[in-house]
Amino acid sequence: MTAIPIARSAAPARLVASFPSSRVTAPPGSPASADLPGAAAAAGAVAADPEVLNRRAALAAYATETAACSRCRLASGRTQVVFGVGNPDADLLFVGEAPGFHEDQQGYPFVGQAGKLLDKLLQGIGLTRDDVYIANVIKCRPPGNRDPQPDEIEACEAHLFRQIELIEPKLIATLGNFATKLLSGKPHGITRVHGRQQETTLGGRSVTLYPLYHPAAALYTPAMLRTLEDDFRRIPELLAEETGVAAQVIQFPTAVPQAPLSAAEQLGLF
Ligand code: SF4
Repeated sequence: MTAIPIARSAAPARLVASFPSSRVTAPPGSPASADLPGAAAAAGAVAADPEVLNRRAALAAYATETAACSRCRLASGRTQVVFGVGNPDADLLFVGEAPGFHEDQQGYPFVGQAGKLLDKLLQGIGLTRDDVYIANVIKCRPPGNRDPQPDEIEACEAHLFRQIELIEPKLIATLGNFATKLLSGKPHGITRVHGRQQETTLGGRSVTLYPLYHPAAALYTPAMLRTLEDDFRRIPELLAEETGVAAQVIQFPTAVPQAPLSAAEQLGLF
């Protein structure tokens, strides 16, 4: 099966099935910064488009700036800011909640069991992490993986909004309640709105929000996992509507294995 093209349809040069690794947004010194050769290759594909290059440079500069952020109390307990990772030209952006233990240690969003499930779900629709961008509402790990506090979300939301402004995604999949409520601006919980796309304006552009259950929550609940799989199946169709690129027929694996979680892994899920 050929993966659905994910890069922007407005620039035919970007219509590649498997986008080179492009972690140009990683803060210097983080593990992600080791992938710059891949990013350079990606940049070469659109070298003739100064607007794209400027946007990418601005995103990388913003990641560097954010790495030193101390706007809220979470700065004191973090190992590092987990800014986000993926394709800076992605049409599809995933937004989760906050880094957990493993994310804080490694500097990437969605590692551990929840990340593995997200990878399998992406694989099921013909995509990899290099085709999309992944970020969180909160960039620093809350102590004990507690829920983010309202004032922490308020302090950090500008970082996410700036990411959206610079990445210019067409489809934003919000994972769980925190991302869904923040980006929709509505109080409706994920149980009510999952799988139902909604139009909104973010970063001065029209964008489609697509709320999904958080993979970490789905790991614990088989019924929720099936719902998440069902909702995920619609992503290629929604992308096709947004980009004008025809969706491939997706052969989604029916069973995403549920690995039993160790206590340490559970701590890293949220
Ligand atoms: S959580 Fe966000 S606002 Fe708070 S210190 Fe980290 S990056 Fe800054």
